[in-house]
Amino acid sequence: MIKTHILGFPRMGEHRELKTALERHWRGELLATELEAQAAALRARHWQLQLDAGLDHVTVGDFALYDHVAHLIQLFGCEPARFGFTGQEPPLQRYFTMARGTATHAHTEACGCGGAPGDGVPALEMTKWFDTNYHYLVPEFDSATVFTLNAERLLAEVDEAIALPASPKVALLGPVSFLFLGKSKQDGFDRLALLKRLLPAYEQLLTRLAARGVTWVQLDEPILGLDLAPAWREALRQAYARLGVVGQPLLLATYFSPLGDNLDLACELPVAGLHVDAVRTPAELLPIARLLPQDRELSVGILDGRNIWRSDLDAALVQLRHVKALRGGRLWVAPSCSLLHVPFSLRHDKALDSELQSWLAGAVEKLDELRVLKRALWGDEESVARELAESRIVRADRVASRRVRNGTVRARLKALPADADQRRSPFPVRHAAQRQRLRLPAFPTTTIGSFPQTPEIRAARAAFKRGELSEAAYHEAMHREIELAVRKQEALGLDVLVHGEAERNDMVEYFGEQLAGFAFTANGWVQSYGSRCVKPPVLFGDVSRPQAMTVGWTVYAQSLTPKPMKGMLTGPITILQWSFVRDDQPRADTALQIALAIRDEVADLEAAGIAVIQIDEPAIREGLPLRRDAWGDYLAWATRAFRVSASPVRDDTQIHTHMCYSEFNDILPEIAAMDADVITIETSRSDMELLRGFGDFRYPNEIGPGVYDIHSPRVPETAEMLRLLKKAAEVIPPALLWVNPDCGLKTRGWVETEAALGRMVEAAMELRREV
Ligand code: GLN
Ligand code: ZN
Repeated sequence: MIKTHILGFPRMGEHRELKTALERHWRGELLATELEAQAAALRARHWQLQLDAGLDHVTVGDFALYDHVAHLIQLFGCEPARFGFTGQEPPLQRYFTMARGTATHAHTEACGCGGAPGDGVPALEMTKWFDTNYHYLVPEFDSATVFTLNAERLLAEVDEAIALPASPKVALLGPVSFLFLGKSKQDGFDRLALLKRLLPAYEQLLTRLAARGVTWVQLDEPILGLDLAPAWREALRQAYARLGVVGQPLLLATYFSPLGDNLDLACELPVAGLHVDAVRTPAELLPIARLLPQDRELSVGILDGRNIWRSDLDAALVQLRHVKALRGGRLWVAPSCSLLHVPFSLRHDKALDSELQSWLAGAVEKLDELRVLKRALWGDEESVARELAESRIVRADRVASRRVRNGTVRARLKALPADADQRRSPFPVRHAAQRQRLRLPAFPTTTIGSFPQTPEIRAARAAFKRGELSEAAYHEAMHREIELAVRKQEALGLDVLVHGEAERNDMVEYFGEQLAGFAFTANGWVQSYGSRCVKPPVLFGDVSRPQAMTVGWTVYAQSLTPKPMKGMLTGPITILQWSFVRDDQPRADTALQIALAIRDEVADLEAAGIAVIQIDEPAIREGLPLRRDAWGDYLAWATRAFRVSASPVRDDTQIHTHMCYSEFNDILPEIAAMDADVITIETSRSDMELLRGFGDFRYPNEIGPGVYDIHSPRVPETAEMLRLLKKAAEVIPPALLWVNPDCGLKTRGWVETEAALGRMVEAAMELRREV
């Protein structure tokens, strides 16, 4: 028997209806009942699509108003005590309080916005869902945490699906991953101790779902793709030894990462079925198909749930038939992971030409691919002959397309000298040459690139895009903004200036729009968190740079001031990481192509007289593979790509890089190997603790630890920044220390920006006097 199913579906709706409804509800324009009704309508629509594609089950429980992990917190009644809920509040109100906090903005644990505790309750912390750009709300656990089942919402959704009528498969995060992904909120408390309290709640739930007529429950344990300590592996054993005997058939789901040393464990757990990601880890598929006991169902995640290319259905069929033969003719077929990570649909996207549209598959198109695969596996190939042939033609077309392959780029890559990633001289020589040329004071001050994006700036950009503002008028408007930013920086007494990035909507999109090989969708939205969605560029072909991208703006900015003007670029890994990337060549090769384009921009900036160039790489860390044994390979090509982009310059041209949102201490050798002359990092919220690692490691080049948090409008005191700087000077040699904020200032207003930068410059001057 062949079955098809999905692990989850995008929630936002074809036109981001959920986003609109949520935001109206938060503004008080939509009643809770109306919001719930709209959510139910979206679920019904999405289930209907699943039925139309002939799936054997519709997936229930994957939908969430804000986040599926937050729903689990309510399902198991473990809302953190710090929210002070009485239990009388409506569940939906409590849910949004956890998700968003109660105050004018959602405080985070360390948001440092200066809000007094009485001002409100900070929201649950948010963090990245494995290596995706989706962010989940982090459950909080301590020794007082108890679990009580509140199954009403989930059961109501099950009833909605049954009423369609459809056969629901309920999908939830499994108990061990739920605990793993949460945080212990008590010193020395091991949240694994909660497992024995949590399992009865899962047991009860499974019993109730079975009673409701649910024939399958999918429990996701994506932590099986991580390097797990023995205690967590043991927890998985214990959990499924108990849950596996409740009588409710369980499909254990893993995705994103190789099972590796957990492969035997995953195959042994006493559940009715196992789902594996055959896209990320094709090599594990056949071993699992052989190892998994024959009385278990094997669900093969054969369609890429993380990317938007149409599948090679022929290749998929070869693999699936092989597995089918090994499994006595039984098989489930699915996308590799939840379709949450791809847009709703791309087939009719208005911004894409028909050729590009034909290459892509959003969630709806992937459902159709499942329909075709199932028919073909049934032996009913005839009925889908047209679809299979079309898929073949489209793939061949993509492979052969002149838009995808650029001979010049390929030849250049092939001929790239081995030392193209090396500066001419080692850092000490460059350091001396740059001192000569730049003549900066000790503890030089700078900013990270962007200045406040005022409503006027946004309006001008939008009008220009719509064709309502002429190019000349737009340039004039941007020049005015650049001049304003330069004058303000001069008045503040900053040492290395920036042009302010007024012309950029987004640090990746801005470059993608100017590079060949990228396309942009009109409606390719993917949920990032809550109601927030992003629309990643589509990197479909060889990357090249038809013309200079930033030189005009930067040179204009430099013409206004004798102080050094820092050119501002986005690095190859960040561009790669925040795009949907082609799947027909290794990511390493694509990164190198982007690196060459950025390298040309760097060379052009230098030739135009720019002495300082920053190449931002905030995403380098998030590209790390989930498994430690794969880090080395990734870091080798990622850091090489950065160096290729940064290395065409003379010794006296100073290359900066910038990173944020991350811990770096476990990849310091690789960060050092990027060999930027100056690195600026986000550190203020960690009270400079992040910097200690750089000190202990004896990070060799110059470094600018952020001295104030840019995520809130709070203006810190001079003394506070001075204290942080002195702390930094204890671990970093003073000759290597820079003074700057944590990150760019585009989300801030000018008032707090000028006040904060004024004090930052004061702190630097005080330090110069004291040291
Ligand atoms: N140069 C960018 C800015 O200042 C850097 C943004 C980032 O690190 N995310 O906005
Ligand atoms: Zn940053």
